[in-house]
Order: sequence, then C-alpha cells, then structure tokens
Amino acid sequence: MKVAVVGSGVAGLGSAIRLAHQGFEVDIFETNSYPGGKLTSIQLGAYRFDAGPSLFTMPQYVVELLALGEKNQEKLRFEYSKLDRLCHYFYSDGTNFQAWADQEKFIESFCEATGAKASDVVDELKSSKKLYELTSPFFLEKSLQLASTYLNPKIFKVLAQFPIAKLKRPLAENNRLRFHNAKAEQYFNRFATYNGSNPYQTPAVMGVIPHLEHGIGAFFPKGGMHQITLSLVEKAKSLGVRFHLNAPVEEIITEQSKVIGVQVKGEMHPCDLVVSNADVRSTYSKLLKQKLPKKLERVEPSSSALIFYWGINRSFSELGVHNIFFSSDYKKEFTQIFEKKVLPDEPTVYVNITAKEAKSDAPEGCENWFVMVNAPYNEDQDWAHLIQECRTQILRRIEKSLGVDVKAHIVEEDVLDPLLIESRTASYKGSIYGQSSNHWSAAFLRHPNFSSKVKGLYFCGGSVHPGGGIPLCLLSAKITSDVIIKGK
Ligand SMILES: Cc1cc2nc3c(=O)[nH]c(=O)nc-3n(C[C@H](O)[C@H](O)[C@H](O)COP(=O)(O)OP(=O)(O)OC[C@H]3O[C@@H](n4cnc5c(N)ncnc54)[C@H](O)[C@@H]3O)c2cc1C
Repeated sequence: MKVAVVGSGVAGLGSAIRLAHQGFEVDIFETNSYPGGKLTSIQLGAYRFDAGPSLFTMPQYVVELLALGEKNQEKLRFEYSKLDRLCHYFYSDGTNFQAWADQEKFIESFCEATGAKASDVVDELKSSKKLYELTSPFFLEKSLQLASTYLNPKIFKVLAQFPIAKLKRPLAENNRLRFHNAKAEQYFNRFATYNGSNPYQTPAVMGVIPHLEHGIGAFFPKGGMHQITLSLVEKAKSLGVRFHLNAPVEEIITEQSKVIGVQVKGEMHPCDLVVSNADVRSTYSKLLKQKLPKKLERVEPSSSALIFYWGINRSFSELGVHNIFFSSDYKKEFTQIFEKKVLPDEPTVYVNITAKEAKSDAPEGCENWFVMVNAPYNEDQDWAHLIQECRTQILRRIEKSLGVDVKAHIVEEDVLDPLLIESRTASYKGSIYGQSSNHWSAAFLRHPNFSSKVKGLYFCGGSVHPGGGIPLCLLSAKITSDVIIKGK
C-alpha cells in the first residue's frame, strides 16, 4: 500500500520508519527545504545551535526506531550520554544549586539551597514515579479513542488507583500543600512548562513529569539534538522512504470520503493512506478544506516561546548544558503569558549551551547560548516591541545572577518568535506543544490518531494524542502506525 506522510517532523519521520519497516511504500512531503520541523539546527558564523528542542528525555523511543529490522545493533550510529547534572538553577534572591541526576545528591543540594524538607522531596519524586507507572501504559501509549484500550482488564486497576483529586487540583496548589516552601514550589511548578502549560491551571497529574528527568534522566545526543533528525532521516532512507523537500501538500484528495491522493504543487500523487504530521487544525482547514471538528474549537493552544541564539565570546564555568534563571514572581509571570497574552516583564530565562558537551558547536573559549523564555501563542501582539523589551529584561535577569553584562559578549545573534515558529512549522498560532493541558479534560479533547470521517486518513505529531514534546510525538507515531498496521 502507498502512504503519503505530510510533514517530516519527528512524528512524521517515526511514522514513515514504522510503516516502511512493515512493507508500506512511503513518500514524505515536506514544505521546508530541510526535514525535522522544529527539531532542526542553525549555524551563525562559527556557532551551531539546536533551533528548537534542547532537552532530550526518553531516548529509548529514538533507539527503538533505529533498531527496527537491524540485526547488528552495533551499526546504530546514534550515540547519546546521560547527563550527571540535569540543570543549574539560579533564584532571583541569589540562591542557586545544581540539580544532580543522582537522586541522593539532588535531594541534598536542593534541600540545602531551598530549605525544603528532604522527606517531602522524596515523597514527591515517589509519587511522580507511581503516577508515571500507572498512567503511561494507557494514557500515553494507547489510543484513548479505541474500544480495545478500555477492554484491557488492566484498565480497571488504573482507574481504581487513579488519584482523581489530582485531576481537579492545580499542580501549583498540590506543590503548595506538599512543600509550604516557595522555592521548592517554584522548582516543581516549572515542570508544567515541559508541555507548554500553566502550573496554576494544569491539573496536579502533571506531577508525573519530574519522574522523566529525575527518575529516568536527561540525555545528550552526541553532536546535539539535531542528530536525532539526521539519524531518523538516514534510517527512513535505508528503508526506502522517499523524501520530497520544498513540497508543500496543498490538498488531501478524497473520493466518497476515502483518501485517494495528495496534491503537491498542483500535481496529484495517488496513495491509499495519508498520515498528516501537519498541525491538525491546518489539516482540516487547509488540506481537507473542512470545518474544524467541534471539539477542536474548544481546545486552547499551548504556550509558544521567544528564543535568542547568541554566540558568546567567552565561557562561564558556573553554567552547564541546561540553566534556569527564575523570576521572582512566578504567578505573575504565568498570568502575563496565559491570561494577558504578553511577554512577562520579568521572565524566567532558560539558557542551553550545547558547547558544554559538543565542543565544536562554538570556537574555543566561547559558548553558543540558546536563550528561551516562555511566551504566549500568537494573537497578533505587537511582537517587535515586546521582543525588544523582553531582550532587555533577559539581559538584566542574567546579569543579576552572574554579575556580568552579557550584552557586551554577544558576537552573533538571531531570534525565533511565535510568528516565525508558526510560519516555519505551520503550528497553530506558533504554539510549540500543540494544545495546552490547562484543564483536566485536555487529554480527552486531543484529536485521535485517525479520522472517523475520512477513510485512510491518520494523524501524528504534537497537535494530536498523546501531545507535544519529542517522546510523546514519537509515541503518537507508534500509536498511529499500530492503528494502521493492526487496524482499529
Ligand atoms: C523552541 C522550542 C523548544 C522546544 N523544547 C523542547 C524540548 O526541550 N524537549 C522536547 O521534547 N520538545 C521540545 N519542543 C517541542 C518539540 O520540538 C515538538 O513537540 C516536536 O518537535 C514536534 O514534532 P512534530 O512531529 O509534531 O512536527 P513539527 O516539528 O511541528 O513539524 C511538522 C512539519 O510538517 C511540515 N508541514 C506542515 N504542513 C505541511 C504541508 N501542508 N505540507 C508539507 N509539510 C507540511 C512542517 O513544515 C514541519 O516540518 C520544543 C519546541 C520548540 C519550538
């Protein structure tokens, strides 16, 4: 059977690999001149940057794809290592600490810096692990819209043990009740941003996220995040997947509610199945020329981001691969992003420096800074003005903790904002994780991995079940291909 995959984001690549491995004839059509979608790389002079994702969790999902059909695992060219320091944290009052991957070391340094009770941290990490083990096999690894998911007898155990209170209570409230310690609360609230949500709205079940970093680990692909894309493309090609770059799909062509092909640059490419890795909203409105399903109208996009790529002409020994400079008022920051829909006037700043691990990403003695703040999705704000203001605030916040005027050390610069994210990856309003999880029902409102109206149409990627972020996108590819291969 012939499959057309629309888009070569990480989920499009994952779906193509799985289907080609099962003997399907697969063509990927990609608007851009490069594959990978958000998972790409940019070069500024002698500095290389990962353009989008910087935190690599759950590497097993990438390895699993690369290992498909490989008898000789040694041949896998994708290499990665586990980071021993998850992140360096700088609070606005001068407190700082390193979040070690080793749990005992983490708890010691965290409690010493924040004054949190060690037993509370142990309990929170245990609860996160338990929640992950309970929910992941059903809520992340299976389709929520198929009867077979609910016919599995194990679902009764999950439902019986599910902490219902954590669906109703916001994450921040849960962390307040747990810690009664502002710094510890801010630390554990931050995990809501890992899927573009607001800790003061998202349900406490998002307390599952710390386990991914603290229980399983943060990893670094040799050569940077872009190596994930490069390895998946190489694997797909080895299985016979054909790549068509600069090839935007204009329409998914159907006949009697069944897919018969895709139109690219005015030309019809016949196929039996379409897997759309494009944002689900644009799949309906632009490619199917249909109205959105009612459920999707109610869904709120996730947050977006503002990123500065800075080539820095010196190094900072106090920084690691991942660094966070917290704002002094987290609640106000999220109110500005999610309710007022403006850039925060005092943002939390994330700085990623891949040159700490991949020396060739910056000249000797220099560093490549990927500087990101959470931003609202695009609602036609006055971005030019907001971005200039925010740049000043970012520099001020970093100087407060490092005591250095970083502006004087920027020798290369580029910027990525919600408008560019929208235009480069066709993400609705520039959201970076599809839809937000700011309500308990979000998981059930997410679009399924298949269409119940158009035969032969399937969906994968951050805007559909189970959601955004590389691991979940790769799980969406797995669910989608399973539905195609095994049938519903
Ligand atoms: C700044 C930033 C930071 C992030 N940080 C992290 C992180 O640290 N860790 C993490 O796990 N995740 C992170 N994410 C999220 C992660 O990048 C995404 O969830 C994931 O990469 C999305 O993959 P996807 O498969 O949904 O496709 P996308 O990457 O969204 O790509 C979709 C592709 O489809 C193509 N396309 C769309 N319409 C058409 C069409 N009509 N015809 C042909 N092609 C089309 C687009 O050009 C694009 O290439 C971040 C994202 C951003 C932007």
